[in-house]
Amino acid sequence: MKKIVVIPGDGIGKEITDSAVVVLKKIDDKFKLNLQFKYHDAGGTAYDKFGVPLPDETLNACKEADAVLFGAVGGTKWDNVKADLRPERAILGLRKGLGLYANLRPVKVADALTKNSPLKPELVTGVDLVIVRELVGGIYFGDRCESEIKDGVERAWDLENYSVPEVERIAKLAFETSKIRRGKLTSVDKANVLATSRLWRRTVTKLANDYADIELNHLYVDNCAMQLAVNPKQFDVIVTGNLFGDILSDEAAVIGGSIGLMPSASIGELTSLYEPIHGSAPDIAGKGIANPMGTILSAAMLLRYSLHAEEAAQTIESAVYKTLDDGFRTADIYSDDFKKVGTDEVTQAICERL
Ligand code: NAD
Repeated sequence: MKKIVVIPGDGIGKEITDSAVVVLKKIDDKFKLNLQFKYHDAGGTAYDKFGVPLPDETLNACKEADAVLFGAVGGTKWDNVKADLRPERAILGLRKGLGLYANLRPVKVADALTKNSPLKPELVTGVDLVIVRELVGGIYFGDRCESEIKDGVERAWDLENYSVPEVERIAKLAFETSKIRRGKLTSVDKANVLATSRLWRRTVTKLANDYADIELNHLYVDNCAMQLAVNPKQFDVIVTGNLFGDILSDEAAVIGGSIGLMPSASIGELTSLYEPIHGSAPDIAGKGIANPMGTILSAAMLLRYSLHAEEAAQTIESAVYKTLDDGFRTADIYSDDFKKVGTDEVTQAICERL
């Protein structure tokens, strides 16, 4: 029995996780994965019921689960709630509570959607990359000073700090990810300026000795940002620290053409969490028009990384891309000449193609 905790959250969270569970149940019938789903609250929905965005019961259930499928949290309804009780705090609580140290964001441009990308079709056709971002270290978690006066001048500072074991842990995951993909790893840093980046580069280079069949190269972050815009096809796996990864993964996400399509995985020590990269989209919640593909592709990542069910994962991914090839479009990616469908219809179309 594989225990999957489902956290729908707020806004479109329920609609999109419902879709992903329908697809997972269908794939379970086919591959006999023996999945068991348990639902828990987080976000504004949890705040309304229990007065906190992440109840202990939810966190404990996640710790015991084989994997967590997460929708999205947040919404204007909770705009005036105290900062430490806001729905989005649930995400930080889960990252910390589950030790989610790596964020994986694949960017694959479906042939049928190259026109939706802000880049020229010839640049994005065939793009298939994944960014592996360190999630619990670096400058976001270093010491900081909001304000101090030195020599009569006010200043603030944030400290970037990485240890060898922290870099080894994320680099190992990136090498392993390259192994099940095309065997090419790009490590991104700013080693021409930063000491932390030089330690990062040394550590990744040393670890490469254990992965003789992976082709490793290093890029400075400014060059990588440019390369993502001019030649994204060159990348297979990119590994980088927290700050650079935050920026590069958002840059890379727009290449795909719609945030409704983009999945993610946050890999942890206790368990791992899978969610689309978008938020709770309160403007379309309850209308039945949300694109569930980002969540369904996140469910495919769950099968790949937590359950090691690669064939089942690929079956879901192929069904999603076939559905796009066959002309089904939710409102966010619709243009003339295609079939405009809602959340349930597109889910049905994907299931028929599994
Ligand atoms: P958003 O991603 O929710 O929405 C941005 C735009 O994209 C909206 O127009 C929305 O309708 C559209 N969109 C998003 N997902 C879509 C989908 N699956 N199908 C079709 N259209 C989709 O970002 P926002 O509006 O800035 O934030 C709304 C709320 O979500 C806020 O409370 C924010 O804090 C929260 N948020 C949560 C997460 C998370 O739970 N991980 C991430 C980002 C934002």
